[in-house]
Amino acid sequence: MDKVIIVRFGELWLKGGNRYIFVRKLKTSIERKLKTTNSRIVAKRDRFMIYAPARETATVKKALAYVFGISWYGEAYVVKSELKHILKGVVSASKKANLSGKNVRIEAHRSFKGLGFTSSDIVSELLKVKDSLPFTPDSSSENIIMVNPDKHETYIYTEKIKGLGGMPYGSSGRAVVLISGGIDSPVAAFYAMKRGLEVVYLHIHPFKDYKNALNSKMGPLLTELSRYSDVAKIYLLPSYIFESKILGTDPKNEMVLFKSFMMGLADMLADKEECDAIVTGESLAQVSSQTLTNLGISSSKTSRLVIRPLICFDKEEIVGIAKRIMTYDTSILEYRDVCAFHSKNPATAASRKAIDKTYALKGLDEAAASTLKKGKTIFFGALTENTV
Ligand code: ATP
Ligand code: MG
Repeated sequence: MDKVIIVRFGELWLKGGNRYIFVRKLKTSIERKLKTTNSRIVAKRDRFMIYAPARETATVKKALAYVFGISWYGEAYVVKSELKHILKGVVSASKKANLSGKNVRIEAHRSFKGLGFTSSDIVSELLKVKDSLPFTPDSSSENIIMVNPDKHETYIYTEKIKGLGGMPYGSSGRAVVLISGGIDSPVAAFYAMKRGLEVVYLHIHPFKDYKNALNSKMGPLLTELSRYSDVAKIYLLPSYIFESKILGTDPKNEMVLFKSFMMGLADMLADKEECDAIVTGESLAQVSSQTLTNLGISSSKTSRLVIRPLICFDKEEIVGIAKRIMTYDTSILEYRDVCAFHSKNPATAASRKAIDKTYALKGLDEAAASTLKKGKTIFFGALTENTV
C-alpha cells in the first residue's frame, strides 16, 4: 500500500474569500522546512498531502512539528475508494500499527459524498466479517483506525499528531520582538509567530563587541527559535550609549528609562524593517518595571501596537511553555545583564512627566538613533552577518 502524510489546516476554515492566501503561506512554510527532502506537496480543499520516500517520512514529520497553522498531521495508507480495497486496507493498517488482538474503534468520514457507499456502510461491512478481523471492533476503544474516503483515493490512518495550531508564519504581518534572553521573551516570540507574525528580533547587549553577545546563550536561543520560522533575523545593539547618557539620573527611574529607551529603539527599528507591531515578554506585576503605570510609560514611546502575549500569564505557566517549546534550558544559562541598575527600590509607579523630562534632557531619542547605527544583524538558520 502507498503511504502519504496528511496535514490538516488549523483555524483557516474561519477565513472567507482570502483563505487561499493563508493556504499559500502555509504551503510555503512547509516547503521551506522540507527543502532538503525529496517530498512533494499536493494541496486539497482542507488539507495537504505530502508524498515522501519512506526513508524520509520521519524527517518530514519532525519538520511539521515546527510549522504554525497545522491542526494535526499523520501518516496514512492510500487505497482505491472501493469497499473491497478499503476493507483490505483496514486489515493491513491494523496489523502494521500492532493492533492485532486489541479492541479497536473504526471511524469513517467521507470527504466525497458521491461514492456508492456511506461511512456507516464501511463500519457495517467490517462488522459482518468481524470474526476474521485481526482486531475486535469496539466503538468505545481508545485504539482507533480512521477511514477517510475521497473521490478516487481513501486514506486509512491510525495516527493523528497534534500540530502547533495558530496561523501560518508571516500571514499576519511583521513585528519587532524585544528579546532579552530570559525565560519570558522567547515564549512571547513563540506566541507572536503562532498568530502569524513574521518576527525580527532586537536584543540590547552589554558588551563593546557584539560577538560576545553572539557567543553567549543568545546564539543557541536564536537557533532554537529559528526552527519555528524559516530564518531568525536579530539586531544586536550595544547598551553603552544609553548607559553613558543616564549617568547622574535618579537611580529609581533607571529601569523605566531603559524600558522606554528599548521601546523607542524598537519603534525606530520597526520603521526600518516595516513592522507594524512590537512584542515584549512582559507580564503584569511580575517585577517593579512591569506595573500598569510603568508599562504605560514605556508604551508611550511608540504609536505602534505593543503586543505583550504574556501579560496575564503566571511565571509558572510561562516556565511550562518555555520547557515545551525547548527554549527553557538555554534561557536559564548565565548571562550578563544590561547596566548594573543601582537602585534596590526602583519606582513601581514612575512619574510620566519626570521620565519624559529626563528622556528629553538626556537626549535619549538621539541616543537610540546612534545605537541603531552601531548594530549588527545576524541571520540564524542561514548563519550570515551584516552591519546595519
Ligand atoms: P525576560 O524573561 O524576557 O528577560 P523578564 O521577566 O526578565 O523578561 P525584564 O527583564 O523586565 O523581565 O524584561 C521585560 C521585557 O523587556 C522582556 O521580556 C523583553 O521583551 C524586554 N527586554 C528586557 N531586556 C532586554 C534586552 N536586553 N534586549 C531586548 N529586550 C529586552
Ligand atoms: Mg530579563
